[in-house]
Amino acid sequence: MAEYKNLINGEWVAGASVSRNINPSDTADVVGEYAQADAAQAKLAVQAARAAFRSWSLSTPQQRFDILDRAGSTILARKEELGRLLSREEGKTLPEGIGEVGRAGQIFKFFAGEALRIGGEIVPSVRPGMTVEMIREPLGVIGMITPWNFPIAIPAWKIAPALAYGNTVVIKPADLVPGSTWEIVNILVESGLPAGVLNLVMGRGSVVGDAIVGSPDVDAVSFTGSVATGRSIGAKCFAAGQKVQLEMGGKNPMVVIDDADLGVAVDACLNGAFFSTGQRCTASSRLIVTDGIHDRFVAALTEKMRALRVGHALAADTQIGPVVDAKQLKQDLDYIGIARGEGGIVVGGEEVKRDTEGFFLAPALVTGTTNAMRINREEVFGPVASVIRVKDYEEALATANDTEFGLSTGICTTSLKYASHFKRHAQAGMVMVNAATAGVDYHVPFGGRKGSSYGAREQGAYAREFYTTVKTAYVNAG
Ligand code: NAP
Repeated sequence: MAEYKNLINGEWVAGASVSRNINPSDTADVVGEYAQADAAQAKLAVQAARAAFRSWSLSTPQQRFDILDRAGSTILARKEELGRLLSREEGKTLPEGIGEVGRAGQIFKFFAGEALRIGGEIVPSVRPGMTVEMIREPLGVIGMITPWNFPIAIPAWKIAPALAYGNTVVIKPADLVPGSTWEIVNILVESGLPAGVLNLVMGRGSVVGDAIVGSPDVDAVSFTGSVATGRSIGAKCFAAGQKVQLEMGGKNPMVVIDDADLGVAVDACLNGAFFSTGQRCTASSRLIVTDGIHDRFVAALTEKMRALRVGHALAADTQIGPVVDAKQLKQDLDYIGIARGEGGIVVGGEEVKRDTEGFFLAPALVTGTTNAMRINREEVFGPVASVIRVKDYEEALATANDTEFGLSTGICTTSLKYASHFKRHAQAGMVMVNAATAGVDYHVPFGGRKGSSYGAREQGAYAREFYTTVKTAYVNAG
């Protein structure tokens, strides 16, 4: 069995122990054994990143462009193979796995270009003879902690901008899915990244993640994951004076109003709620539907949902892969039970048996719910969506905004008036019109409001707000 090691200061080193990476479509399939670092190794990784910072921060934009661009090309050239690995370790279908790898490649290419586009500003001073320069500089050592549901895209959208703007990195991927991050780290090494600039420490969040966050040598922390973990990390960063960026959960509403195109609405909700097994922070988990279209919408969505084929992520006819592990499956089933107990009517949501032992769950639609129910207030993070019936657009908008989350939101309508009003008044970081709440571009900002996010946006040129700091220089030429 291959053992994949941690990368510290350019050396592949064994961990304190190993963890088996298990395929959720087939628990007899072990993807590999991955080193588990301890707190001491995490400290060494941070020290390596600290030592490498000076020279990397002074590297030329061309050098950074070349490495990131080369890595992007390699990822794209290997996307079928890496997509297969991703689907094996996380359980999303092979097309979804390959698609996510392609996205990672595009992200590296985009941020290769950003390395060349770092600019500043020069303005006249209010004082005679002076000029003022505003210059962007890297922050230093960035600690990164990532979740299991996008095993390659999220590490890519943190690592690529951090390196492009001249920072050094220590990354801890989710313990459930270390394989995809290991591959991009290895590709970056092979693309010519100097020792110490990027360090990989795999292992448990409570051990390795905690050691990274608590280190005085880490200047900033970029975290994606649950609200509970994010808030505790945020509090530690604040206490330590570290810059922090938190991308957390969602309870994303999709509004469907009477004048919607039924086919467009059903497809957007089917995709948003159930694709990638509903394990997306941007998944549409609350479907808010007005009276006039409610019954037709529920009937059409139920029919399409029941026709989705659940199975092994690598099987050609699978549309919905397994849930990621036994713990998440239990959480999904618990929430389906909670919804039923609250008076919701559940269609689907049964455990499914296949030829292999995996965590297969039929998608579930819960009707007859109100926005006050737990099923509509708490993130499930599985293929489970509920329908809330409302009388009109105004009630739909108010219901959509009545949540502590604010990541993504959407509306299906053929009316320019309602689409424009919704775009303006929806309280979320991302708004979709006649499109699923999940599924975004890689060259524009990504992030939410309210309880979903904290700090600067990720992705696109906006990523520089987090990964750089601004220096104001006054020059007296007189
Ligand atoms: P999680 O349980 O919060 O874990 C996220 C990461 O934090 C993992 O690497 C985890 O390590 C680590 N961690 C756990 N405890 C820690 C601690 N005390 N100190 C430092 N690190 C610690 O979340 P998850 O279950 O992996 O991911 C699902 C969640 O992510 C959902 O809520 C989803 O909405 C959210 N998400 C948000 C976005 C977004 O951009 N807004 C995108 C994707 C996912 P382990 O490996 O040990 O678990």
